[in-house]
Amino acid sequence: MSSTVISGIAALVTNEPSLGDASPLGLVRDAAVVLDGDRVAWVGAAGRAPAADDRVDAAGRAVIPGFVDSHSHLVFAGDRTEEFAARMSGRPYGAGGIRTTVAATRAAGDAALERTLARHLHEALRQGTTTMETKSGYGLTVEDEARALRIAARHTDETTFLGAHVVPPEHADDPAAYVSLVTGPMLDACAPYARWVDVFCEEGAFDGDQARAVLTAGRERGLTPRVHANQLSYGPGVQLAVELDAASADHCTHLTDADVDALAQGSTVATLLPGAEFSTRAAWPDARRLLDAGATVALSTDCNPGSSFTSSMPFCVALAVRDMGMTPDEALWSATAGGAAALRRDDVGRLVPGARADLVLLDAPSHVHLAYRPGVPLAAAVWHRGVRVV
Ligand SMILES: [Zn+2]
Repeated sequence: MSSTVISGIAALVTNEPSLGDASPLGLVRDAAVVLDGDRVAWVGAAGRAPAADDRVDAAGRAVIPGFVDSHSHLVFAGDRTEEFAARMSGRPYGAGGIRTTVAATRAAGDAALERTLARHLHEALRQGTTTMETKSGYGLTVEDEARALRIAARHTDETTFLGAHVVPPEHADDPAAYVSLVTGPMLDACAPYARWVDVFCEEGAFDGDQARAVLTAGRERGLTPRVHANQLSYGPGVQLAVELDAASADHCTHLTDADVDALAQGSTVATLLPGAEFSTRAAWPDARRLLDAGATVALSTDCNPGSSFTSSMPFCVALAVRDMGMTPDEALWSATAGGAAALRRDDVGRLVPGARADLVLLDAPSHVHLAYRPGVPLAAAVWHRGVRVV
């Protein structure tokens, strides 16, 4: 194992208030970080940095923890360019949606699915994402869901069983039978490869009772719940997530005051996915309302070929600042420490001794540039598990 000191950091975000300026970002000015093997060994003022084998000069730029993207759907095949173009042209488009991707995914070979997954993970890594959750949900048969998770588990520890994404066409006449399949044989086949269980709780997908059945069954198999909740309409998803102590309620676009109160009082993280509202031209979730109530907020890409085909956490940070009422500091916290909270991790999303050595050197003097300079590739260098990968 070798050690590296990165010095000359104008502004270091640690996400540990006690290490820095006592703000939630734990900002340290004129800082250094020492990496040893795959861990952070030391952070603090540059003048007091211990010696290391190698030295990197940040030359007055900013360093942040690697982004933690806690919500994506990357095991898929096919393309939905036409659907997007139609939507953006104001033309009506077919109701194909998720089912279009399901058909293409079922028809694809394992190698093609894995190549697509790896390509998008690498694309995200180049933009600074060092932890990425991903889900099944485009197979919707026992074999295809298990296959998706088997492939995903080769690339990330954060795998989510989403057999309850939509009811597939062959079960359209009998959704109850599909829920029985999801909570029975499909869960049995998928649980060995999954950490989380998820359900799309929405009109046209699964109602509150069905969602409860899926999440409860998953929990009995050792998976922890997370929920696609309140994206397109008001509904029971958020309340159910908090009641079942889900790690996160994702989307949270349509919230009643009671939903906001529940999130503020429970331990469930509200994960906002602005790429989805951008790509479907929908109303933004109100991050300000959640933050002012005291809820923990995460930001994530929801990267998927239909409703949010971006792998860029910086883009989501910019949208959250521009349109969702977050300050640049809050948005960065939510994209790093917030994502870690949504995955119940304390070894990523912050730069403290003992944490995983996942960090991004920005081509900017401050993390504020992530929102100030939208669309600009600012990840000058990325370390993942202590190895410089970009
Ligand atoms: Zn999603």
